[in-house]
Amino acid sequence: MADRHQTDGAPSGAREYDAIVIGAGFAGLYMLYRLRERGLSVRVLEAADGIGGTWYWNSYPGARCDVESMDYSYSFDPELEQEWTWTEKYPAQPEILAYINHVADRFDLRPDIQLQTRVESATWDDGAHRWEIVTDAGERFRAQFVVSAIGTLSAPLKPRYEGIDDFQGEWYQTQDWPKEPVSFEGKRVAVVGTGSSGVQAIPEIAKEAAHLTVFQRTPNFSVEGKNRPLTAEEIAERKAGYREHRDKQRNSNVGIPLAINERSGLDMTHEERIAEMEERWGYGGAPVFNVSFVDIMTNIEVNEIVQDFVRDKIRAKVDDPELADLLTPRGHPFAAKRLCVDHGYFETFNRDNVDLVPITDNPIDRLTPDGIRLADGSEHEFDAIVFAIGYDAISGSLLRIDIRGRDGVSLRDEWAERPATYHGLTIAGFPNLFTVTGPYSPAVLAVMIVAIEQHVEWIDACIGHLRDHGIETIEATREAQEEWVAHVDEVTAGTVFPLATNSYYNGANVPGKPRNFPLYAGGLIEYNRRIDEVAANGYDSYLLDGRPAGGDTEAGGADEAAAIASNGPWN
Ligand code: FAD
Ligand code: NAP
Repeated sequence: MADRHQTDGAPSGAREYDAIVIGAGFAGLYMLYRLRERGLSVRVLEAADGIGGTWYWNSYPGARCDVESMDYSYSFDPELEQEWTWTEKYPAQPEILAYINHVADRFDLRPDIQLQTRVESATWDDGAHRWEIVTDAGERFRAQFVVSAIGTLSAPLKPRYEGIDDFQGEWYQTQDWPKEPVSFEGKRVAVVGTGSSGVQAIPEIAKEAAHLTVFQRTPNFSVEGKNRPLTAEEIAERKAGYREHRDKQRNSNVGIPLAINERSGLDMTHEERIAEMEERWGYGGAPVFNVSFVDIMTNIEVNEIVQDFVRDKIRAKVDDPELADLLTPRGHPFAAKRLCVDHGYFETFNRDNVDLVPITDNPIDRLTPDGIRLADGSEHEFDAIVFAIGYDAISGSLLRIDIRGRDGVSLRDEWAERPATYHGLTIAGFPNLFTVTGPYSPAVLAVMIVAIEQHVEWIDACIGHLRDHGIETIEATREAQEEWVAHVDEVTAGTVFPLATNSYYNGANVPGKPRNFPLYAGGLIEYNRRIDEVAANGYDSYLLDGRPAGGDTEAGGADEAAAIASNGPWN
């Protein structure tokens, strides 16, 4: 498709579009597709030199999805799902990236995507009702609408150790893995970080390296994935039932239809509980196990029962009891810190070439030319270091852009204490800016592609409504935003999430970041109901062209929030 931008009439040589989409991952590609179908001129600006977002950047050894492949794919096109065949229960990163590239080609998306283009700033011009976007190359764009599709896990934390420039070996980050092959053959390798990325990379690196040392700050709970190739029968069955399955996905709380055990763990005998958990553990993966009891995430007593079960699993897998003890998570509820899904992680520590170094009370002090020095002065020598240290999650990627809304107000100032949004879709004071899976939406508590499709479709319909009614601007009211944030807080308070004080969910992993939990834990069903209602009511909780569209906002008080929290579970 020809680039339909206009420069006529746009000041300062800026290229003018109807919409600028930031990011070319799953969200940005689908947003482009929808808006283009609607007839808008769209430009997608992407920092990377390839499309795919998460699945472009994270090509580290062992990277794979922990949602089953046939659940983690676009649902918007029935032909697409028939022509694509997944090979494994959990697809590996290359397969997901190949799928994304297939989608881009199939829908001819590439001509409207501009790679190697990082958005540095976005400024609202209230006189012209346009956003002005400036990139790292100084290129300027103007657009009536900006859609942030920049991801919740796309602002990597960088290793900022003193001495890192003097380290004589190679060092890598899981979140920015080189595109050329990396070999650890015959090398002494360190991995720092034991979250989902570390837990996936460690077993693979251990197979190749001469020696692997794992630096662990916090042991975390992990569920066995039990990955395997998909059988021809499974593929045929799913392809025949995809439409029905998609409906169920969209009408579930985490984006996967699950057989939830509706009983409280407290209403079952010990034997019944173990049998329930064993059966689900045997199936593999987090979602099925997480619904062993209806109240795992809302009742700490039940959660503790699950914690003990998973700790026993770790002890059974690790030969050395002292090592097993070091690998055993304590001090946070099960799944309140993002749960890992592993493929032989704990067993890796039975290998002769693997060591564990706990650094909870003895942190990394600095890098030396030869390796890593800990606070107690002990030194460890390496040829290569892999940092799997995570992200400034959820709000981080938005705050890395200098975004200025009405009256020049800076988003960084607005969110200095904590972020605030209306449904994670829009922000008061920032007209015509939409955020796919923004803070205070379900986002990473659900299967992301389901959450993404739902947001993209809501945004597309909203823009359609504005166009059909000759409305130039839409903006969340402060009142609606505050009520929504208060509701999210009330729902969170009814869960065990606040008991995990050290988690990227609440920003604790980023030094200096204000702590709060900007995720909606009420499940997709309730969330959908609320955002669909806003659309059905003509966006009446918004300002349209600066005027209240009318109607009440929809928060429902603490009692209702507590009931919603029990909707769990979460991905
Ligand atoms: P992303 O894929 O993060 O894409 C955002 C894009 O925006 C990136 O390409 C980035 O380069 C670009 N960008 C950011 N800032 C700028 C800027 N200023 N200017 C221009 N471009 C910019 N979710 C699940 O549901 N299940 C899983 O199993 C799962 N596994 C994951 C594994 C890993 C290793 C990680 C990191 C995340 C995983 N996730 C998973 C979450 C995953 O991020 C989402 O599933 C999904 O891929 C997000 O798509 P997105 O398009 O919203 O964002
Ligand atoms: P993460 O979960 O935040 O884990 C980072 C790890 O690094 C933690 O063990 C953390 O310890 C440690 N760490 C951070 N800073 C450190 C420091 N300065 N010194 C020592 N250790 C440090 O990040 P991630 O593993 O990249 O995963 C992020 C998210 O991406 C996941 O939670 C998940 O949502 C997604 N993801 C999904 C998959 C999948 O599903 N297939 C795979 C990878 C990632 P603390 O715990 O003490 O902070």
